[in-house]
Amino acid sequence: MASEATKRLIVVSNRLPYVLDRQAADKWVLKPGSGGLVTALLPVLRKRGGIWIGWSGATEAIPDLDNMFGKASDEAGYVLKPVSLTKEEVDRYYHGYSNESVWPLFHDLLSECVFDPEYWDAYVKVNRRFAEVLAADCDDDDFVWIHDYQLMDVAHHMRDMCRSTTLAYFLHIPFPSPDIFMKLPERNAVLTSLLAYDLVGFQTRRDRRNFIQCVRMLVQNTSVRPEGHLHVIRSDDHETFVGNFPIGIDADSFAASAIEPEVEERVAMIRSRYADRQIVLGLDRLDYTKGIPERLRAFANLLERFPEVRGRIHLFQVVVPSREEIPKYEELRVEIERLVGNINGRYAEVGWVPVHYFYRSLPSVELLAIYRASSIALITPLKDGMNLVAKEFCACSPDEDSVLILSQFAGAAAQLGRAALVVNPYDVEQTADAIYNAFRMTQSERRYRMRKLRRNIRTQNVFWWVDSFMRAAFKELRDFPMLEEYIPEHYEHR
Ligand code: UDP
Repeated sequence: MASEATKRLIVVSNRLPYVLDRQAADKWVLKPGSGGLVTALLPVLRKRGGIWIGWSGATEAIPDLDNMFGKASDEAGYVLKPVSLTKEEVDRYYHGYSNESVWPLFHDLLSECVFDPEYWDAYVKVNRRFAEVLAADCDDDDFVWIHDYQLMDVAHHMRDMCRSTTLAYFLHIPFPSPDIFMKLPERNAVLTSLLAYDLVGFQTRRDRRNFIQCVRMLVQNTSVRPEGHLHVIRSDDHETFVGNFPIGIDADSFAASAIEPEVEERVAMIRSRYADRQIVLGLDRLDYTKGIPERLRAFANLLERFPEVRGRIHLFQVVVPSREEIPKYEELRVEIERLVGNINGRYAEVGWVPVHYFYRSLPSVELLAIYRASSIALITPLKDGMNLVAKEFCACSPDEDSVLILSQFAGAAAQLGRAALVVNPYDVEQTADAIYNAFRMTQSERRYRMRKLRRNIRTQNVFWWVDSFMRAAFKELRDFPMLEEYIPEHYEHR
C-alpha cells in the first residue's frame, strides 16, 4: 500500500486545465488554461504522478482528440483524461442544475433559482459518467480530489461501485444556511452524496457550520464530533471529515509580475493621465452575486453626499463577460449599463467622467497595471465563496498606498476583515462612507493596513491551501494549527 506521502493524486473538476480552441471548421487545438488551481496543483501532480479528469469543453466528436490529449499530457507532466458530454447534457447538468439551481441557491439568491427535475436527472447522470471515468483509472491506493459544485455526487457513485479509494472534495462556493438549503428539492440526496466523501472542505468556518447544521437537521442517524480543527460526521458506518480551508493565490508570482517593466510603463501612463485623482476599482465576472448594481448605487450616493470628491475620484468598473447564454445575465448587463449611463449623465463635468466602464476580459498586463494604479478596491459581492480579486489587488500593491473595501459576505472577509474596510454591500450609505474614508485615509494608515493584508495573503497562499487540505485528508498529518478568522460584529450579535 502506498504511504500517504507518495500516493498518486487524481484531480477531478468540471473542466480540464486545457481548453479546446476551434481554429477552422474541423481544426481544433488544445491550449493550456491558466489560473491559481492549476499553478498550485501542478507541482504536486508532477511530484506524485497524477491524472486530471474533466470535461474537454466540446459537445461534438473531435477528430484526433485522444492524440491531442496524449501530446498535451506529455507536455503537462501528468495525464489528462477527457470526459465527453453531449450538448443536451451540458445544457441540463451545467447550465441547468449547476448554474441555475445550485449556484444561486448557495449564494442565498433564491429568487434567481430555477428548479427542474430534468436538471437533477442530468446532474446525476453526468456525475455518474465522471465516476465511471475515474473508476476506470484509479486504484484504491490513490488520493482523489474532486472540485466544486458541479460534482457533488461523484463519491456516491464511486461507493455504489464498491470503490474504497480516499475521496476528498472541496466546495469553492459558499454553503448556505439551513433556511436557504431546505428549499432545494434534492436537499437530502445532495447531503447524502456529500457524506459519501472522506473529507469535505469549505472556504470558511461559516460554510462548514452551515453544512453541519443542515446535516444535523436533515440526515437521520448521524453524529458529529470535533477532532483537532476538523469535525467528523458519522453516518451509518462511514466517517466524513469536514474542515475549512480558504483558497489563496500565488501571491509572490502576482507581486513579481506587477513590477515588471511592461506593467510599470503602463502604470506610469495611467498615473500621469489621472494625476491628483484616485481610482476606485470594481472588477468582476458578470454575475448577480457580485453586487455590481448595488456598488454603482453606492458610488452615486458618494457623489451626491460628498460633492468635494467630484472631479477627484473615478470608478473603473471592469465586467468580464460570463454565462451570456443565460437570460438573467443579459438582463444584468443591461441594468449595469443603464446605471453607468445614469451616473455619468447626472454627474459628469467637462474633463471628468465619474464611471469608466469596461465590458471585456483584460489582457494580463492591463489587469496588473489597473490593480497597481488603483488606490481603492471596491469588492462588494452580495455573497462570494472567496473572491480572489481582493487578494490579487493586495498582492499587486507593492507601494502599500491603497485600501481594500470588502463585503462582509465574501469568504475573503474571514481572513482579511481586520485590515480591510468591511461593509454590508446592501447598505449603500455605509459603502459610500467607506469609499469616502478610504479616499481620505492617511498614507500611514493605508500602509499599516495594506502591509497586514499582504502578509496574510503571502502566508496563506495557494500552496499553503493545497498543503493544508492534503494534510487534513491524510489522517496522520492532521496537526496543523487552527485558522483564526475575523468575525464581523454583525455575526457576533446573531
Ligand atoms: N480575471 C481574468 N480576466 C479579467 C479579469 C479578471 O482572468 O479580465 C480573473 C482574476 O484575475 C481572478 C478571477 O478572474 O483570478 C476571478 O476570481 P474571483 O474569485 O474573484 O471570482 P469568480 O469569477 O471566480 O467568481
